[in-house]
Amino acid sequence: MKTYAVIGNPIKHSLSPLIHNYTIEKLGINARYIKILLPENIDAKYLRNFILDSDIEGINITVPFKELAFSSTNVNDGIANKIQAINTIIKDHNNLRGYNTDIVGLQKCFEKYNLKSALIIGAGGSARSAALALKNSGISMSIANRTPSKLKFFEQFGPTIHIKNNDIDSLYIQKYSVIINATSTSLNNILPMNKKTLEELFQNSSLIFDLVYSKDETIFCNLAKECNINYLDGKDMLIFQAAMSFLYFHKLDTSLLELVIKYMQEALNSFLD
Ligand code: NDP
Repeated sequence: MKTYAVIGNPIKHSLSPLIHNYTIEKLGINARYIKILLPENIDAKYLRNFILDSDIEGINITVPFKELAFSSTNVNDGIANKIQAINTIIKDHNNLRGYNTDIVGLQKCFEKYNLKSALIIGAGGSARSAALALKNSGISMSIANRTPSKLKFFEQFGPTIHIKNNDIDSLYIQKYSVIINATSTSLNNILPMNKKTLEELFQNSSLIFDLVYSKDETIFCNLAKECNINYLDGKDMLIFQAAMSFLYFHKLDTSLLELVIKYMQEALNSFLD
């Protein structure tokens, strides 16, 4: 039996094992998918050795290891090289191959909406995927983050904004079609900046998107609900990126993508019911 895993810190919240294992069973594949909590302060060498020394064939990477994971691999696909952050690794003898399926997952989420501009809050690995997905979809963007040094990478995508004392300069409180929360703050039930500023931003937008998902509304989506603005959380993205990773893990043809999505959606729906 082959073993696959998702690694992160925290990892308890991850629904990846649920949707992967259900789909593995439905397709009669001899495999299992587990979750692994890794220490927060590891380096790329530790991660590389951890994967190579384990019996794990393929790994998904979540918060906060996506950029570190990129440095731990020795071959990465083109799109991953552009943003230097990955969410999927395949072990191939002594090689680790990195892929980024978050970008396609995000693009699929955006395509349903007529978006012209975006504000990304956050500057971690998933914000990098969001920036490239927006660029590929022809949507202009600004990027805001608490730690200014992390914004450097994003200068290639649009104006960058420092979130200082939990707030942004009023100059940047403008009309954005979508506000994307690419921070991990919802996992801790906190907002990525002060509520009043977020409310002002939300009133000018047509869609609020939190990358974090949960059974109930996240705190970010809940604020959108209070402001009467359309919102979506990370569940659709979870399914799309997981389905693409699933094809890589089990070497399946892309013609099976829709079936994999269907099974993953079934698993998620049964959890939500
Ligand atoms: P990273 O650890 O790489 O980045 C975290 C980001 O959150 C940084 O910008 C960080 O800011 C910000 N942040 C953390 N705490 C705070 C805080 N208290 N106030 C303000 N900002 C804060 O994580 P990822 O980019 O990999 O993931 C981000 C989130 O997206 C995760 O919660 C993850 O679960 C979710 N996600 C969901 C997916 C899905 O399929 N739905 C796929 C991928 C990710 P700073 O730089 O200042 O530290």
